[in-house]
Amino acid sequence: MELQLAVLDKLHISAAKSLPMEVKLDPWGAVQIDDYSKLFEEFGISSFAEMLPQIDDPHPYMRRHIIFGHRNYGSVQRAMKEGRPFAVLSGFMPSGHAHFGHMMVMNEIIWHQQHGADAFAAVANMEAHAVRGISWELCRKIGIEDYLLSLIALGFQPSGHIYFQSENYPMRNLAFELAAEARFSEVSAIYGFSGETSIGHMESVMVQSADILHPQLSMFGGPKPVVIPVGSDQDAHIRLTRDLAYRMRRFLVEQREGYVSVRGKAASPQLMGGAEEGLKEAGYQVKRYEEHLDIPGNDLERIDELIREIEVKNGELGFLPPASIYHRFMTGLTGGKMSSSKPDSYIALTEPPKEAAGKVMKAITGGRQSLSEQRKLGGEPERCAVYEFLVFHLSEDDSELEEIYTACKSGRQMCGTCKKEVAERIARFLAAHQQAREEARGRLPEFGIKA
Ligand code: SF4
Repeated sequence: MELQLAVLDKLHISAAKSLPMEVKLDPWGAVQIDDYSKLFEEFGISSFAEMLPQIDDPHPYMRRHIIFGHRNYGSVQRAMKEGRPFAVLSGFMPSGHAHFGHMMVMNEIIWHQQHGADAFAAVANMEAHAVRGISWELCRKIGIEDYLLSLIALGFQPSGHIYFQSENYPMRNLAFELAAEARFSEVSAIYGFSGETSIGHMESVMVQSADILHPQLSMFGGPKPVVIPVGSDQDAHIRLTRDLAYRMRRFLVEQREGYVSVRGKAASPQLMGGAEEGLKEAGYQVKRYEEHLDIPGNDLERIDELIREIEVKNGELGFLPPASIYHRFMTGLTGGKMSSSKPDSYIALTEPPKEAAGKVMKAITGGRQSLSEQRKLGGEPERCAVYEFLVFHLSEDDSELEEIYTACKSGRQMCGTCKKEVAERIARFLAAHQQAREEARGRLPEFGIKA
């Protein structure tokens, strides 16, 4: 553990220092998040480091603090530990090539599936159509060719659910229900919508919220913890969806001084009666008022659970607010953020291995101006896109990373040799991945996908 922490510190992948810089979260724009620690303060994202000791077999992204923050992940971690149902869901907008940044989300979905989650992967074709104007046919082609083949090649199992948004009618019906609870002003404030924004674009926001909540529909076993692995630029969606989940409840259950209050929100008299009866049957003393029930004591969690069960028995949704985990963005090979609009900044999962290796050889590193200067001063792996590839994707071994880091810092390692090694690893990885993608092509029907 000590070695791990030392490595993490040296990798500069622990919480970043505070900078006097505004953090802007924009789900559709070019996003540059310069200071992740600001997210903890300004948006109430919790540090993942606190969660780490409770996870038996953490993914390297967790161990290396690449996953740096979460909302409510404790609900998922407890379900995972106790063998109770939970789910994982994330979506991919079919608007460009899938690259190593997208692969992080795929790996996070797969890791949770391997740890017992009911796994969902959405192809966000309604969003791509409404926001980017991409035709349905092209959405389908990109969705399968760029995203789904890679997802399956990486290990997604057919026990999970892969779907195109436009074909998932229970989810779309839920989007309509959620839209009835959302207000134009709040959605506009979050996403910067104006009078010029198309209704389709606005609707796609509700569809994404419905994506996130629909694993809790009765057809998938009802309310359960669900985790959404995303980049931190997607936090606005998560906050809105958590709010909508609360609004879909028929009761507000709150701890007050010495008692738990269960307040009906548009709950029918029959539902109020059902709640009172259910609580009494569970052994609670209940004081009934016109619109709320008071239960002496501090048993908030258990009472909330009981009330949720009563809601579900009466045909209501009883959603739990979704959890989320946030990962860092990879730096682009040309510096700045890895971005689909800058082909030299990223390596696509479908890229010919030789070309990918060539991009690595041209990448911006943390090397010095000259070899003699590098020998004297050492390199700066913490500013090096090539080294970052090793940390994020190409080395399973923390002690190997520490060795490379130390060799670089001490001036023993030169960028030419280092880039060559990483270029070869990327080429090997891509060759194997692309072969696995071809095998996945024949397996698409197992996942209910017509090619
Ligand atoms: S030696 Fe390697 S890790 Fe160090 S700056 Fe150069 S490429 Fe990056």
